[in-house]
This record gives sequence, structure tokens and C-alpha cells, in this order.
Amino acid sequence: MGQSDITLIGGGVVGLSVALGLLRAGQAVTVLDGADDDFRASQGNFGLVWLQGKGADFAPYARWTAQAVAAWPEFAASLRQTSGIDVALSQSGGYEFFTDVAELADFTADLARQEAHLGRKSYEVLTGDDLRREMSGIGQGVVGASFCALDGHLNPLRLLRALRRAVATLGGRIITDAKVTKATPASGGGFDLTLANGARRGAGKLVLCAGLGAAHLATSLGFNARIRPQRGELLITERLADRLPFLSSTIRQVDEGGVQIGGTHADAGLNDAETLTMMRGLARHAVTVFPALAGVRVVRSWGALRVMSPDGYPVYARSSLHPEAFLVTCHSGVTLAPLHASNLKDWIVNDATAPEKGAFDDNRFALSTAA
Ligand SMILES: Cc1cc2nc3c(=O)[nH]c(=O)nc-3n(C[C@H](O)[C@H](O)[C@H](O)COP(=O)(O)OP(=O)(O)OC[C@H]3O[C@@H](n4cnc5c(N)ncnc54)[C@H](O)[C@@H]3O)c2cc1C
Repeated sequence: MGQSDITLIGGGVVGLSVALGLLRAGQAVTVLDGADDDFRASQGNFGLVWLQGKGADFAPYARWTAQAVAAWPEFAASLRQTSGIDVALSQSGGYEFFTDVAELADFTADLARQEAHLGRKSYEVLTGDDLRREMSGIGQGVVGASFCALDGHLNPLRLLRALRRAVATLGGRIITDAKVTKATPASGGGFDLTLANGARRGAGKLVLCAGLGAAHLATSLGFNARIRPQRGELLITERLADRLPFLSSTIRQVDEGGVQIGGTHADAGLNDAETLTMMRGLARHAVTVFPALAGVRVVRSWGALRVMSPDGYPVYARSSLHPEAFLVTCHSGVTLAPLHASNLKDWIVNDATAPEKGAFDDNRFALSTAA
């Protein structure tokens, strides 16, 4: 196997997944990861491995997500083998609960479009009464739900740890506190990198996977994608001995027993602080769906920033200015991890024969950037 010098900027779920794929393909990989006070979606996310509704208006994303969800069992097993860490993957199906009939109808229409892209049955819709017959404890305020048997969840912090350990086990170098402030093309090929502490490093190929920290470097390397933050807020309760009878996109019981409640979306710039208004809304939603949660204590709350491209879909782009520079960024980096660890390696390593990433290229933003 040819060894090449590939440097990834960013050691979150996305950077480490891509690094793992490259290492498995026999490449020499260095991951430069930033500072502890960086925004890190990988440390604040909800842990869903989720298909329901994804790509309703963008067929390639619907199919990409379905492929990722199907790849998770094997990926989790291989990750456990390499890292010794079990990410607590469970894919027993998930619900989207609704308290508003019109919102349920809108989402059902999304699901029908997604199903058409996937070319197979992917969901069912239940009325509130159906749900209450099937599952005890669902609140009277729930008017209905959709269910997708392929949805699941895992322990996201354990995923991050497993990826780190797997990368290190396979010989990847992870350098922490290595914030890259500047990347410029070197005269003999590759790139010169300047770090926040003043150190300089060379890099052959460069893969920019720095989440929100990629924005400034992406522009200087000639990428069109403008990455933006979107805040999500979450609550977690004390651990419960009993298991919740469902998994939903907003309420899930983590493997350690606490019930995590989330799903808010706010444009708040680079402010990841949680707010009392959202916390109150989350708690109210949880108790409406499952009234027994009213007696359970919330022990922690936090906010975290999603990494969003202009249209919300992943970006897999090679720079037209500097063809040895790649940008890999997405929301739903947990769900997509198995594909990032397998499907991107040939494209990054073997530019001559691997297909471009077509639909996910950042040239889809070129016009809007120029306008
Ligand atoms: C509230 C919330 C809920 C979510 N829920 C889900 C979910 O249920 N399922 C799902 O699939 N996804 C979910 N996501 C999305 C998922 O967490 C992200 O897609 C994923 O974590 C992005 O990973 P990343 O590696 O791109 O970014 P990050 O985790 O932000 O990592 C970026 C890394 O790059 C480093 N860095 C930044 N700048 C530099 C620099 N200049 N030089 C070197 N290093 C740098 C940082 O230190 C950091 O370690 C959620 C996100 C949020 C915020």
C-alpha cells in the first residue's frame, strides 16, 4: 500500500471517522485537533442514528443516510474490535411524536417524498389512540406519531472515544491543542500550516474537518461552502431503573439510564449557552408525550452548536484552487460515521479513478456565493 501524508484538521466525529477509513486503507494520517474551548458538536449531540425524514427534498441525502444507517451494525462491531469500546448502538426503531395535527400531516408528506427517493417502504403513521393502545403511558396530548423501524441511537461520547482509540491503534497520530490558523500552498506541493502556538508544519494532502472551526480556513482554501452554527439545547434526567418504552427524536433513554430530551433549533450565532425558555419548552414537551416523566429530576442541561452548510446537507468537496485540499463537513456526523470511515477514502486518496462526490460537492453553492 502506498503511504501518503494526509493531514486532517479537526478531530471530532467527522475528522476521526475519515481518518479511520484512510488508516484502514493503509495511509499515513495525522489529525490536528484544536483547543478544549472550541465548539465541539461531537461532545454535545443527541446520539441518534436516524433516517426518518432525512433528505425528503434531496434524494442523494435520503439514500446516503439510508446507506449509513444500514452500515451501522457492522461499523459498531468493527469499532469495538479495534478500540475495545462498545458504543451502545441500538436500532430498534424510532418515533416522531406530534401534538399538532397539521405538523403531523406536513411531516407525513415529507416521509412520503423520502420514501419515493428510497424506493421502499420506510415508515408508518399512527394515531394517538393507536399509540396509547400499543404503549402504556403516552399522554393524551399526543395526536399521532410516525415510526421508522430503521432508526436508532448510541452513546455519542463513547463513539468519540472509540474513534480516537481506533485511530491511535491503527497508527494514526492525533495531536491535540494544535489549532491551525493558516493553511497556504507550499511551493514544492502540499501545504504549509501555521498553528495558534506559532508552530509550523508541512502537509501533503489536507482534509478540512474542523466543524465550525473550518469556516475561515475553507474560505482561504477556495471552498464555496459557508458553514454556520445552529444551536440545539438538551436536558438530561437522573438515571431511571425502568426503561422508557420508546425511542424518539426528542426523547431517548441513554444506555446509562438518564432520559435525554432535546431537539431545539435556534440561530444564535456562536453562542452555545442554554436558555430557560428552551429548557422549559423541552420539559413541557417530554411531559406531554410521557406524563410519568413529570416526577423525574433533571440533573443537567447544555447547549451545543450544530455545524450547518448553507442547505443543511453534507459537503464533500475538493478545492478547485488547490486540488490536494478537501472539505468534509456535515450535520448528522454520528449517523453518517460508517460512510465517512469507508466511502470517502478512495475519493481522497485516489483522485484519478474514484468518482467525485457529485451531489455533495460545494459547487452547488458557487452561484449563491457569487451573488
Ligand atoms: C445539539 C446537537 C444535536 C445533534 N444530534 C445529532 C444526532 O442525534 N445524530 C447525528 O448524527 N448528529 C447529530 N448532531 C450533529 C453531529 O454532532 C455533528 O454532525 C458532528 O458532531 C460534527 O462533527 P465534526 O467533527 O464535524 O465537528 P466538531 O465535533 O465540532 O469537531 C470539530 C473539531 O475540529 C477542531 N477544530 C476546530 N477548528 C480547528 C482548527 N482551526 N484547527 C484544528 N482543529 C480545529 C475542534 O477542536 C473539534 O475537535 C447534533 C449536533 C448538535 C449540536
